[in-house]
Amino acid sequence: RDGRSDWSSDVCSSDLRDVVKRYAGSKGAEPKLALKGLSFDVPEGGVFGLLGPNGAGKSTLINIMAGLVNKTAGSIEIWGHDIDRHPRNAKLSIGIVPQEIVFDPFFTPFEVLENQGGMYGVARALRRSDELLRAVRLEDKRNAYARTLSGGMKRRLLIAKAMVHSPPILVLDEPTAGVDVELRRQLWELVGELNAEGVTVVLTTHYLEEAEALCERIAIINHGELIANKPTRELVGMMGEKVVAITVDEDIATLPDDPRFRKCERAGERVVEITYDKSEMTAGQVLALVQQQGFTIADVTTREADLEDVFVQLTSQVGEPA
Ligand code: ADP
Ligand code: MG
Repeated sequence: RDGRSDWSSDVCSSDLRDVVKRYAGSKGAEPKLALKGLSFDVPEGGVFGLLGPNGAGKSTLINIMAGLVNKTAGSIEIWGHDIDRHPRNAKLSIGIVPQEIVFDPFFTPFEVLENQGGMYGVARALRRSDELLRAVRLEDKRNAYARTLSGGMKRRLLIAKAMVHSPPILVLDEPTAGVDVELRRQLWELVGELNAEGVTVVLTTHYLEEAEALCERIAIINHGELIANKPTRELVGMMGEKVVAITVDEDIATLPDDPRFRKCERAGERVVEITYDKSEMTAGQVLALVQQQGFTIADVTTREADLEDVFVQLTSQVGEPA
């Protein structure tokens, strides 16, 4: 596939139906129902976020997609290949960057990529090891021992390793968990570059900010259940409440009041913050009511609910899948 596909296209890069995972409890531990029947598609060409708190089932799900963990029930197609019927084609279509960093410390980055290419049956002439090292900015470390790389370099090498067979889908499991701000920025940039080249990216994260910044679409999972799956903008806009901060031209003696205001709070001598429900009224109506009550408005700012608000709202509605 060449070029970047239109995000609005309904072509699916992966299709998951009723995926269940039950881990057998070992040594007296209870069996764990980690995925309780998840269904969703990952559209082609974008950056798709799988967001959820620790233990939600994110790693389980993507390890199943990558063929590293067996599912208990359900079906999955990766780039049109059923993972049970055509496991080899499915595996060739996906590259995975695991959550844990594991390397043989005695290989150089170049060797790591060459070995991985060999494992995927990529002919020597078609291997892209040097190109990938440049892409992840490790060309200087081509011949260094992997054990001498910093944590950030190792993570970048893992991304290159996941791309040796040029899969159309790249999955990153918590790429920025526990990394510093600078490395996070670098990784975000790298994800953006790969995506711009046409790679469909799936990433798991428990950072709301990261999902909001990187992903066009976000699926939220909690306790092995899908609780939302929407374009990021829609998810953020889903919150009913909006806040408008109004500055008036004299000190406020009595706060404005209306039964439709959800909240009305003083935020300064001349500033009042009014929370309202977007489905009940508009900011214009809020302002009109405030004016009718004798205030002269000097300035107005509004604040949309952010993903944090949405997440808290959705994850607190236990057993009510969206
Ligand atoms: P996340 O990646 O969202 O943090 P995981 O997929 O790692 O979540 O885990 C989901 C649930 O499955 C957790 O309760 C976890 O303890 C459990 N789990 C994960 N791996 C195993 C395993 N190999 N054996 C038993 N339980 C597991
Ligand atoms: Mg995980």
